[in-house]
Amino acid sequence: MAIERTLSIIKPDAVAKNVIGKIYSRFEDNGLKVIAAKLAWLSPQEAGEFYAVHKERPFYKDLVSFMTSGPVMIQALEGENAIAKNRELMGATDPKKADPGTIRADFAESIDANAVHGSDGEDTAKVEIGFFFPAMSVYSGR
Ligand code: ADP
Ligand code: MG
Repeated sequence: MAIERTLSIIKPDAVAKNVIGKIYSRFEDNGLKVIAAKLAWLSPQEAGEFYAVHKERPFYKDLVSFMTSGPVMIQALEGENAIAKNRELMGATDPKKADPGTIRADFAESIDANAVHGSDGEDTAKVEIGFFFPAMSVYSGR
């Protein structure tokens, strides 16, 4: 297995629930290290660009509106197999279908307000980390 990096976002619903620390513990307890982080309130333009891949989907407008409804916690994570590991910890997109013990099963209410984002592959991870963090703000191997 390779050491990978992935982008994670704790969405406005989970930030509002005050569970940033509980979600960080899931990462830390499963070998994922926070190597960059910031709390931010995204503009519609920023959220729209971040989710541009979903532009043609019927839920795009609601997604952008939800992601700009409050502050989000954005982090780059590093570790063995980090991309798949984070997706595994997150659980399925629809929290009703997420495995017990996953972040979405434990903290999310609906497919719209589903607590976390995670990159879905090597290419998207690279683009998504670069979207939020310049190289000088990423602290690996400390
Ligand atoms: P994931 O976040 O699990 O990678 P997608 O990339 O497919 O899921 O979708 C991005 C986000 O768009 C989801 O996390 C969810 O908030 C929202 N979304 C996806 N599918 C739907 C849907 N059918 N209805 C409403 N929102 C959706
Ligand atoms: Mg996705």
